[in-house]
Amino acid sequence: MRGPYIPESFIDFSVEANRQKMLDTLEQVKGELGQNYPIVVNGERRETGNWITSVNPGNLDQVVGKVAKARPSDIEDAIVAAGAAMQQWKRLSVQTRASVLFKMAAIIRRRRFEYTAWMAYELDKGWAEADGEVAEAVDFLEWYGRHALKMSNPVKLGHLADEANEYFHQPIGVGISITPWNFPLAILVGMTMAPVVVGNGMLLKPASNTPVIAYKMFEVMEEAGVPAGLVNFVPGSGGEIGDLMIDDPRVRFVTFTGSKAVGIRIYERAAKVHPGQRHLKSVIAEMGGKDAILVDKSADIDAAVEGIVAAAFGFAGQKCSACSRVIVHQDVAEAVTRGVVERTKAKVSVGTGVAGSAAVTAIVDKDQFASVKNYIEIGANEGTLAWKGEVPAELNGYYVPPVIYSDVSRTARIACEEIFGPVLAIVPVKDFDEALDVANESEYGLTGSVYARDRAVLDRARTEFEVGNLYLNRKCTGAMVGVHPFGGFKLSGTDSKAGGPDYLYNFVEAKSVAEKL
Ligand code: NAP
Repeated sequence: MRGPYIPESFIDFSVEANRQKMLDTLEQVKGELGQNYPIVVNGERRETGNWITSVNPGNLDQVVGKVAKARPSDIEDAIVAAGAAMQQWKRLSVQTRASVLFKMAAIIRRRRFEYTAWMAYELDKGWAEADGEVAEAVDFLEWYGRHALKMSNPVKLGHLADEANEYFHQPIGVGISITPWNFPLAILVGMTMAPVVVGNGMLLKPASNTPVIAYKMFEVMEEAGVPAGLVNFVPGSGGEIGDLMIDDPRVRFVTFTGSKAVGIRIYERAAKVHPGQRHLKSVIAEMGGKDAILVDKSADIDAAVEGIVAAAFGFAGQKCSACSRVIVHQDVAEAVTRGVVERTKAKVSVGTGVAGSAAVTAIVDKDQFASVKNYIEIGANEGTLAWKGEVPAELNGYYVPPVIYSDVSRTARIACEEIFGPVLAIVPVKDFDEALDVANESEYGLTGSVYARDRAVLDRARTEFEVGNLYLNRKCTGAMVGVHPFGGFKLSGTDSKAGGPDYLYNFVEAKSVAEKL
């Protein structure tokens, strides 16, 4: 029996021993860069002749590793293997299945610095951000393991004198997890192991920007006791192999985290019933955001400024929950803008994830780099440039400076489109009615914050601000597993609430059995 769930605490890198351990681990992992990694199907390691080359976006001369790409024949084998392996797996006790997740958590906890280092190299993630992500992976495993145990408790039903009635959940079939690069470790582990703990078999297709860290997590799955074939590691370009996997009639569900465009495409394709298919596919989709922090005239301005800067610029704004628009009452707009600019100047530096402490690390790849730079140019015609930071000349990666535009109109592109970079739009409004109206006008509905002292304003936000994760008087990033179940409304996804009490129900079907006595 496990004790109560308690979220993992974070490493304090201001403690000298921790700082030194991180530096030593970075050196050790540096010595392991540049290796080749296979795909893994039915426990068999395969080199396929085609490779994804993973390069450090913060040091473009550094190859992190090469990972093989799955071929159509590998996908076929993986679907068969997952279907076969789950027939054994689902018959094991839930205690046995959950114990694999608890073991994974223990392994990841022991190698915590190592995985932080891998993310610093493969994604240019800073130390604290990467460590927070490793902690989140442990939390997902501890949380889902416990929840699977809870779900196996008998359900109380209404009583009929001449019947014995039962209600229980069973796994649904073979699933595919298609994972994003921005949380390449925690989200990948959560999305893959949640379906597994309730008895399903999986194909794991990681993001092509971060396949090495994905392989490292696959190794942890194997080491913790995930049987051969139950999870198959099949990297490859989503554009090349995505449709093949999603269209397959044997696939029962797709769990996806990524952009709106790809999520919509998957949702549409999965809706089609193909010849030989005997079920409707489910899609669990977590997509983009255009997350807003609303600042009322009654707000504690200093607290709002602190929350805005942390949420806008942490990990260079490359979080689905990042604040990319501030919607502020006109009476305090000037004070908030001034405060945000001053704090950004003082606290937000541009630098490598490997060096550790900079908030603005590299943009993940060349295309995304071009896209963010384009939005910075678009913003120049849409608002007043309140602050633009600088990128140190010695950096050799996809770096952009933090940029803040004020006096942005609600219809401006930088106020409406997901940018996924350190670009903040400040939109002044006349009152809180208009603030809510502007916030809700978005097609997205992922996270949002409201800073206000006025209780009536907070209460209205509670019911009227259309986001899956609402924060009052705190920043809109930093959701914790089991504390802030995570998932968006509208075109931000299917509101699956990862890390919440209902998440595992996405991967089971409920059976009602009545026996006449
Ligand atoms: P993406 O381009 O949509 O990629 C996500 C995953 O989908 C990758 O594994 C990608 O593979 C795959 N993919 C691409 N095209 C595909 C296709 N046609 N069929 C099947 N799979 C396909 O998104 P991203 O750029 O990695 O991630 C950033 C986005 O994710 C942002 O919009 C962000 O807001 C969102 N996000 C949302 C959440 C949330 O919880 N709501 C969390 C994190 C991120 P390749 O890498 O091989 O292209």
